[in-house]
Amino acid sequence: MIAGLADRLASRVTPDGLVKLYRHAPERITGAVVAHRFRETVRFAARHSPFYRAAFAARGIVASRVRGPSDLGDFYTTPDDVVKDPEAFLCRPPAIVFESSGTSGKNKQVYYGRDELHAMGVVMAAGSRLMGIGAEDRVANAFDFSIWIPGMLTHQSLLASGNFCLAFGKVDPIEVYRRIEQYRFNVVMGEPTWLIRLTELAEKHGSFPLKMLMGAAEEMPSQAIGWMEKVWQGAKVKMCYGSVELGSALGFQPCDKISGYHVDATDFLPEIIEPDDDGYGELVFTTLRRRVMPLVRYRTRDVTRMSSGRCVCGLPGPTMEKLRGRRDEMVVASGGNLYPLMFENILSKIPAITPDWQVIFKLEGVREIMEMHVEAAGHAADDRNDSACVNLTPDAQTQIREDIHAQATLQYPDFMKNLALGIFGLRITLHPAGTLRTGRKLKRLVDKRHYDAPAAHSGNGVFSRQIPVIAGEIGA
Ligand SMILES: [Zn+2]
Repeated sequence: MIAGLADRLASRVTPDGLVKLYRHAPERITGAVVAHRFRETVRFAARHSPFYRAAFAARGIVASRVRGPSDLGDFYTTPDDVVKDPEAFLCRPPAIVFESSGTSGKNKQVYYGRDELHAMGVVMAAGSRLMGIGAEDRVANAFDFSIWIPGMLTHQSLLASGNFCLAFGKVDPIEVYRRIEQYRFNVVMGEPTWLIRLTELAEKHGSFPLKMLMGAAEEMPSQAIGWMEKVWQGAKVKMCYGSVELGSALGFQPCDKISGYHVDATDFLPEIIEPDDDGYGELVFTTLRRRVMPLVRYRTRDVTRMSSGRCVCGLPGPTMEKLRGRRDEMVVASGGNLYPLMFENILSKIPAITPDWQVIFKLEGVREIMEMHVEAAGHAADDRNDSACVNLTPDAQTQIREDIHAQATLQYPDFMKNLALGIFGLRITLHPAGTLRTGRKLKRLVDKRHYDAPAAHSGNGVFSRQIPVIAGEIGA
């Protein structure tokens, strides 16, 4: 009963009230509120959503007897479940939908209510407060508004927080750069690759004394942070971890003591499943306050590690490390979610190349480079020559590159827009037929951007030493 009352009180607070709760609420009370919210969410989902009703019945789960995650046994909600029939999750009529690219190439759809959007805005605003953004700060919001969630969600949080703002959307960084002085913006928010592009402009044309650059939706290269803070005259560079399924951010960075995130463990119940010996496993979460499309034990496919207890900075609550990678092959890069099928769709339309290809994401300085390695069909390596040479005329090689560009532009204009904006660099390398594949299975997308430890680069996959959980999938 006390937990129910505390829950109702906590649902009504302002961003500043939430900050106080986060800092000072006794662990015993927050623990009871979380347990209460989890039970209520499971019962509500079982009562109102056809998906949960069927899934629980199939496993013999009686919702009224569920007290904690372990009572759900091996039940998890997967991204595929959401892709397959998102409306089967609905418990109430939705007000708004956002999409997120799925690994299968079909977008996931996540629905929210008007009150939920507002509540997420308050939570995000509280997170921003903890990160050092006050109501007096003037914010340029350059997160994408089209289809995806970050722009609108950030906008909600700025309204809840009372910041003066401009909802730019993901425009050419020069548009924001030109207006920083005019509107006296001191905080800029956008995707990391976009913020890097903005910083390159500032380095070239002159910078302004910003207070903070805040990124989300993809990883920020650690080597970029120091450089960005210097260019922007001492601004802090901070990150949030969120997704369209999470709605608000699960992870945020109120302190400088850890490179990972503090976790919002009152709106979500996070779990790490199938951990390896070092504790790294897949992040799973249950939404605790959503009633339009509650997600119970949702598998994010993101691999990380969590620590419980107080952070060294003194704030309570669990923390999580930066993501180590993904369980599947999707790579968040070049300003978007990229998956093997997308490249398959592009490259299969080019008759002059073989079906074998590999895309490697790397950093040159702070710049993201996408290396597309393809094989020229019918041009096997000549034993007498260097196997890296392709016996094609320069014109024929140029033609292949142009065809790939044209196909990518035709099928994925959003992605090629990011290339045009200079958010990443694209390099297409031609190899002789039959030279890319060294094992039975060719890893399609290789992410070499954030895995700097020397051990990580040994073996045939960048993940092989760091994520034993998926090691079996690499050479298999
Ligand atoms: Zn901390």
